[in-house]
Amino acid sequence: MIKFATRTINQFMQQQKDLFAHYKQPSIKEDSYVTGLKLANSLKGSELVPFIPINGRQVNFYYCGPTVYSNSHLGHARTYLGIDVIRRTLRDYFNYDLLSVMNITDIDDKIINGAKQAKQDFLEFTKVWEKDFFSAMEALNIELPDVITRVSDYVPEIVTFIEKIIANGYAYESNGSVYFDVHKYLADGHTYPKMRPEMNADLLQEGEGESQANKQSEKRSPNDFALWKASKPEEPKWPSPWGEGRPGWHIECSVMASAILGNPIDLHAGGIDLIFPHHDNSLAQAEACFNCDQWINYFIHLGHLNIADRKMSKSLKNFLTIEEVLKRYTPRQIRLNFAIHQYDAVMNYSEEQVEQAISKDKAYQEFFQNTKIYLRESEVTGPQKWTQNDFQISNLLRNTKQIVHAALLKNFDFPTVVDAIDKLINQVNVQIAGKTVKAPLVQSVVQYVDFILGLLGLNYLIQNNNQTEIKSIMAEVCSIRDQVKLAARKGEFEAISNIVTLKQFQYEKNLSNGIVDYINQFQQQVLAASQEKNKQQLFSLCDKLRDEQLFELGIKIEDKDKDQPSIWKQYDPKELKLEKEQQQKLIQQKELIKKKEEEKKKQEELEKLEKAKIHPKDMFLSQVDKYSEFDEKGIPVKDKEGNELSKKQKKVVQELWEKQNKIHNQYLETLKKQQQQ
Ligand SMILES: [Zn+2]
Repeated sequence: MIKFATRTINQFMQQQKDLFAHYKQPSIKEDSYVTGLKLANSLKGSELVPFIPINGRQVNFYYCGPTVYSNSHLGHARTYLGIDVIRRTLRDYFNYDLLSVMNITDIDDKIINGAKQAKQDFLEFTKVWEKDFFSAMEALNIELPDVITRVSDYVPEIVTFIEKIIANGYAYESNGSVYFDVHKYLADGHTYPKMRPEMNADLLQEGEGESQANKQSEKRSPNDFALWKASKPEEPKWPSPWGEGRPGWHIECSVMASAILGNPIDLHAGGIDLIFPHHDNSLAQAEACFNCDQWINYFIHLGHLNIADRKMSKSLKNFLTIEEVLKRYTPRQIRLNFAIHQYDAVMNYSEEQVEQAISKDKAYQEFFQNTKIYLRESEVTGPQKWTQNDFQISNLLRNTKQIVHAALLKNFDFPTVVDAIDKLINQVNVQIAGKTVKAPLVQSVVQYVDFILGLLGLNYLIQNNNQTEIKSIMAEVCSIRDQVKLAARKGEFEAISNIVTLKQFQYEKNLSNGIVDYINQFQQQVLAASQEKNKQQLFSLCDKLRDEQLFELGIKIEDKDKDQPSIWKQYDPKELKLEKEQQQKLIQQKELIKKKEEEKKKQEELEKLEKAKIHPKDMFLSQVDKYSEFDEKGIPVKDKEGNELSKKQKKVVQELWEKQNKIHNQYLETLKKQQQQ
């Protein structure tokens, strides 16, 4: 049996292999830059294959951009965040010399319909959504590619490209449109569709808008797809040898990618939903134009995104725009949420799942804040002798680097990377808390963690850059506030006038002057409260400075145990505000759950009480659909057909009767007690 199963699997694997026999792995040449990176190449059925660029360290990279006709949504976020991380990793970690191109589709059926509805010229219409897309990308800290191409700027190049395909014999004109001749292409020994070779010919449909549905009669075969479409009246149109018309969707990527990056191209990426027909058709067109057999060497695909286990769609009302999501979460939380999922795997998005990213983001923030304070306080001036703890952290750092490197080589396995970084951070946190690790070692860990998180587009160090400027004033603010609190606790009100009248803070250049305003105001109010000997007021002024005034500026003061000085940390004020809102929301949710549980419990008790009110004699009498005769205690003796109950049945009803008798008696007891009171 086992033998049979193994053989079947082997046969299956063999079949799979043959389906992708067309793929030619780029060979290693003398000047090849070999890093050991492997990619899940869709041209080889997602098999991991060594990544070898054509020219040394140079990598030419094309990815499909958005069709601009509506708001940018979470699906876009997944695709372009994924590509952003891949680009940063190729460039900053593997040191490839990247040239990347992305297109903007501004000619399309959906756009024509959308512009019609909005009563706008299609170029005017697409500019609006183009802007929306780029502002969403900026908000998520997604880097732009080196080149952005727009289809409407490339129509002449598209016409020339199609003319070449016709000249090569792989396309034909019909009724003002031009179609790709799939049969001729296959007959000449080309492969189509390369990335979905298992697809049955019957399933090969063009997959474009509904306006093409009635064009079947123009084609030589239903599998043929449009390169050029004759324009209907009122549709945008461009001149061509075949009459006025517009380019098909697939042709644009073949043309714009090769216009900038040529042939062959190292790397092409896009969402998995584009693999067929868009990407397979793009490949066929370019290979038909250049008469070559491998235009793209590596094709990678970003995985599907489901929202709460369902496909995101406007009709299911689970359609989330980037703008909406950014109101609830910071860009870092959103980025982290995607980073903890493998880029080419299916991902499910849900609120619970973002919680994980929120707590990770918080842990990272605290790590950078705490190490900053640790390094601030432990200046290194001379030689240091390592202890066991230092060796342990040093080994852990080296070990982490190895794990991270192996994971990145394996198709950018960031979930493993994040896991390894978390373990490193946890250990360093412990050592910092115990002050048992040397500062230079902590510095090395901070630099490394910052570098790796930087690949994910997360910058925790940069945002705190101005800390040095407020370092001295914040040290004084903390000290004044600590002294006021201590004096108030001891009831030494006269001492407070000495503490707060010592210094009036002046505005300084490059300083957050909000701090100056708040501390001066704090001193005045504290002085007044101390003259009135109002202890409560003094404490509430200290709280207000911490929880409202400085918080608003992005500064958090953490009070320590009685004799320990308080510490301060600086954050992005907007993020701090959002964090507070998220916490409040979480508390509200928890309260809501608690309330519901209490109500449920109350309801259950009420039902129990109602049940206990019933006299055991009455409990079966109403069940005439089950029983026809009862004894003097009200226990059934015959079923509804008039047959005597069996021994087993009798035992069951007897037990039920006794149980009811017991709870009813208990009920009578409590009733009696209540009356006595
Ligand atoms: Zn494309």
